[in-house]
Amino acid sequence: MDAQKLYNFTYSLITSYETALDRADLIQSFVKALGIFFPVEDLKIYIMDEYSFLLKDFEKPWENLIQNEENIEIKKYFDNFLVQKSNYEINDKILYFPITQKHKTLGLVKLTVRKEIALSNEFFEILPLASAQISMLTATIKNKEIIKTSSKFHQTVRNIAKITETQYELDYILPIMGEMIDGFILEHLIYIFIKSKNKKEYKLIWPKNCSDNKIYEYLEEITPKSSTIMKRDGKMGIFPLIIDSKPYGAIVAYNHFDKITSKELEYLEEIKQQAQITIERAKSYIEVLEYATMDALTGYNNRHQFEKRLKETTASAKRQNQPLCCIMSDIDFFKKVNDTYGHAVGDCVLKNVAKTIKKELREEDIASRYGGEEFIFLLPHTKLDEAKIVAERLRQSVEKKKINIEEYKIKDVKEISVTVSIGVSEYKKTDKEPETLYKNADSALYKAKEQGRNRVIVFD
Ligand code: GH3
Ligand code: MG
Ligand code: MG
Repeated sequence: MDAQKLYNFTYSLITSYETALDRADLIQSFVKALGIFFPVEDLKIYIMDEYSFLLKDFEKPWENLIQNEENIEIKKYFDNFLVQKSNYEINDKILYFPITQKHKTLGLVKLTVRKEIALSNEFFEILPLASAQISMLTATIKNKEIIKTSSKFHQTVRNIAKITETQYELDYILPIMGEMIDGFILEHLIYIFIKSKNKKEYKLIWPKNCSDNKIYEYLEEITPKSSTIMKRDGKMGIFPLIIDSKPYGAIVAYNHFDKITSKELEYLEEIKQQAQITIERAKSYIEVLEYATMDALTGYNNRHQFEKRLKETTASAKRQNQPLCCIMSDIDFFKKVNDTYGHAVGDCVLKNVAKTIKKELREEDIASRYGGEEFIFLLPHTKLDEAKIVAERLRQSVEKKKINIEEYKIKDVKEISVTVSIGVSEYKKTDKEPETLYKNADSALYKAKEQGRNRVIVFD
């Protein structure tokens, strides 16, 4: 056989793995390599799934093959290879050969060519080579994906465990947890539900919408002793969160196409376990922090302390007949920072924004972390037009600030900047509740977001 052709073929197969971006790309490289010998029209790879015992398209392993004639035929060939009756089969212009690893048949290749396959010497030399190389490469890709999933899993568990280092309000923790789990397991829809305060019905916490109303009925099945509940032929897993021996909520994972595999189940159960621990820890933190005053990440007042200070400052503004203003800020597109660089960088950004703003304030101004990436500032003895100037100064200082993230070792990114949207309001003696002050700032902030972000809006 032509040595150069053989060399090109082997070389092209081996390098295909290094350059392939994904499974589809890898198959294209195989097509190119096999094209040296065959007028390839189409190439498909099928792998037996070890959990569901179904043959799956290597390119779309999350979908099941439709039970049509063509696929039943493929299964027939696979079964033949399984008992090692033959090491290839030809049906007109289609060539089938097995994918094996250590003598175990893992799947098969279906190669469609444009003209009849000649059973030449060359064919019998090429076939074992192609079979061995493609087997090795598909198995490597599969193993690499398993390792990647497992390291992503460990990272997710670690991240969930770490949330309470920066955050203890459950209103903020639960959606972040949803984001983290969602990022780990992309093939599934992830939902988080929490029982409402009156302990009657389940409320969706993550994501924003759930049109699948049936889930609420499933959730009613949860008892204090429940472990994982499987629904829809194993495509949906309900993982009850039990806190203090009571149903607290649930994580729901759903894959439209496929059963949840036993490995995924194992991962999700451990994630649930960690979520439970984190929630418990957050709850006990809150109890302790009732007496604490400071937010650990930013050094600002925490929310409880803010509420206390709000009562004091509004009361004294009223008594002394002095102006009082409120500035509320929220980082723009902060979720994107987390998604792009990870939560650790997100925390670093939060800390830096807090520090940058603090520098622009006076000693008597009261800075608090309201939750998440929302800060709230009370400015005693300040009129609305003055507060507006301060707010504009804060906005600019954040915009200008370059946050150094070198220590997080993100390729090619040494510093990042963010912007904030700001709402400003003034206390009116006619306001019945002190809360009106920050509710007004919040609604101005909402307008600032609506109008395009990175701007200051005054409540009127
Ligand atoms: P915008 O405000 O401009 O509308 O967009 P956004 O992306 O900032 O929107 P949203 O308020 O929905 O998202 C806030 C995100 O803040 C969600 C969560 O991931 C993140 N977050 C909240 N608290 C923390 C925290 O303590 N650390 C980190 N890293 N992220 C947090
Ligand atoms: Mg926000
Ligand atoms: Mg935001």
